[in-house]
Formats: sequence, C-alpha cells, structure tokens
Amino acid sequence: MLALAGIPLGLTFRILDDSPDAPAAVVAEQMCGPMDQAATLDAFAQGLHCATFEFENVLVGSVEHLLARVPVYPGALALAKSQDRLPEKELFRSLQIMTAPFMPVRTLDDLREAVTAIGSPALLKTRRFGYDGKGQYPIRSKTEVSSVWERMGGHPLILEGWVPFDRELSQVSVRSRGGQIKHYPLVENHHRKGILQRTIAPAPGIENDDHPLAIQSRQAMEKTMTALNYVGVMAIEWFQVGNELIANEMAPRVHNSGHWTMDGAVTSQFENHLRAIMGWELGSTHLRQPALMINLIGDHRPAADWLSLPAAKLHLYGKSPRKGRKLGHVNLIGDSMDDLLEMAESVREWLPD
Ligand code: AMP
Repeated sequence: MLALAGIPLGLTFRILDDSPDAPAAVVAEQMCGPMDQAATLDAFAQGLHCATFEFENVLVGSVEHLLARVPVYPGALALAKSQDRLPEKELFRSLQIMTAPFMPVRTLDDLREAVTAIGSPALLKTRRFGYDGKGQYPIRSKTEVSSVWERMGGHPLILEGWVPFDRELSQVSVRSRGGQIKHYPLVENHHRKGILQRTIAPAPGIENDDHPLAIQSRQAMEKTMTALNYVGVMAIEWFQVGNELIANEMAPRVHNSGHWTMDGAVTSQFENHLRAIMGWELGSTHLRQPALMINLIGDHRPAADWLSLPAAKLHLYGKSPRKGRKLGHVNLIGDSMDDLLEMAESVREWLPD
C-alpha cells in the first residue's frame, strides 16, 4: 500500500522480505533474504534514497546497520521502544501519559508480587513480539498464577492491570522531517479474538477536533513524536475510560486503524508517510467522508459480495489465505455518519460473530 501510494508521486520501491511471495512484489523490486544478514542489508541499501519499515518486528540491529548506509525513518529509537512493552510504557509515563498499572515479571515470585500489587483481573503479556492479542494471558485470580506461569514462564514478561474500558480508540498522526505534525481524527476500533476487525472514522461522539478527548489524544501524540524525534506515520492505541485516555501501545509505522484514510481522508496515511520520509510537505489529514474499515480475515466473504455495495472500496493484499490472517480490507464510505452506521448495520451479518 506504501508502494501503491508512492508510484503516482514518481517514486519507485525496493522491498526486502524473507518470503518469496511478498504481496508488494507486484509493485516493487523484491529482494528476498534474511533481514539479519549484513550482505543482504548492504545489497538492499545500494542506491536507495531512504528506507522505512511497515512491520515492527524488524530487528533494531538491522535498522542500525542500514542507518550507516542510508537514512531510515523512523529511526531505531522508536522501533526499540515499541518492541518492548516495558520501555514503551515507561516512555508514556515519563511524558505524563496514562497507562494501565504495570510491573516487569522475570520469575514466579515476581509474578506473585505483581499480582498482589496490581490486583486481579490482570493481563500477563510477553514484553516482546506480541501482537494481535498473541502472547498474553488473563489472570482472573491469584489461584491462576502458577498455571499461567507454566504457559508463559521463561520469557521476559509484564503484568498489566485490567483496564475496564468503555471502548478502544486510536490516533494516527504524521510528523515531517522538519517537525511539522498533522493528525487524522480519532477513530474507534473493534477487535475480535485480539485482532482488529473494524475501525470507524471519526469515532462516534468525537467528530469535532475540539472535543476534549481529541485534544488529549493529539497532545499525547505530539509529546511522544517529539520525544522520539519521530519521522513518518505513528499510531497510539487508546483505551477510553470515561473522559480519560489510557495508552495501550504505540506502533512506529502505518497502522491498520489508518487504512480507512485510503478512501475517507484527503491524503492517505501511506502517502503522508512517504511525504514525511522524503522530506516533502505533508498532505491534508482531513476527513472527506465518514468511513468504516472492515478487515477481511481468513475465510472472508467473497470479493464480489463487497463489490455489490456501491459505497465499498475493496483492497485485497494478494496473500495466501490462512486462518486468522489479514487478507485485505473494505472501506465503506458514507455521505454522513447516519448513512455510514446504516450501511454498517446492513453488513453486520457478513462479519463473523
Ligand atoms: P495488545 O496486544 O496489547 O494490543 O492487546 C490486544 C487487545 O487486548 C487490546 O486491543 C485490548 O482489547 C485487549 N487488552 C490489552 N491490554 C489490556 C488491558 N490492560 N486491559 C484490558 N484489555 C486489554
């Protein structure tokens, strides 16, 4: 999607992927190889203007290796923070951004202590390489500590207090090389089995930029981006509890909850990411029309069904189907919020429960 947004801007792309059937291969020169090998990285960097990543499990060492050869945006700092839930949450706290209570856990005794201090229910998560709800277990009471430890012990872990949230929101924003920041509207996210299923833009009830939650969200994003000297698109995932936002995590990349911008905003998150890393002016982040983004996951409804809806924009990624895999998304575009919500209702039964 980055390459699709960049080709009309006159850009060409080379991608590095360890799989030979990477979806971007149809729009970019593909290099297939291990991302942790110096020779592969050197060949990849050859002749590039700049580099970026759109997946956050890229090794920090690989980004540092590339940085000695070609500018990489965002840099290694934001990547390193977002890869480990402990420094990520510590960063939020240091910027006076609220998070769930948390404690690092290395041993069974640490876990017992953390459950006593934080209380239950709580969530035990792996600090690294967890996404889409993978690598986390709830602890509903102290009696579950040993059984959860048996499943999770051995990895660096973090215990987080359970946040009784009203709903999940996210902020997607972009920062240029010169430090200019633009924000997309706050959006509402719905997950199923830990995977994002739907995003609605703008978040119902927060249509105006001067809503206190929208202001809170933008200010927190600005502090985070500035602290990291960030360049490119970033997302922060929020829990809304009453009038407060509690940070869950950040993503140093274009984000699934920003996919609606392809059809609902003046400039898509993909184009704005490219504008930022190229050192160009940022495009308008204004919402053109309310949008509902629906992820097509695993065994989804046939493409023809979605295309039968006049206001639907289909984006298939060309990935081989697998249970739980994100294979594409549909953006439904409304003339108004009421129109969009009506459309959403009409396709409700097309979505898995
Ligand atoms: P994560 O992998 O941290 O993004 O978590 C995946 C999903 O689990 C989130 O989108 C929430 O729905 C839920 N979740 C994660 N952390 C918490 C928490 N501390 N309290 C309540 N729900 C959570």
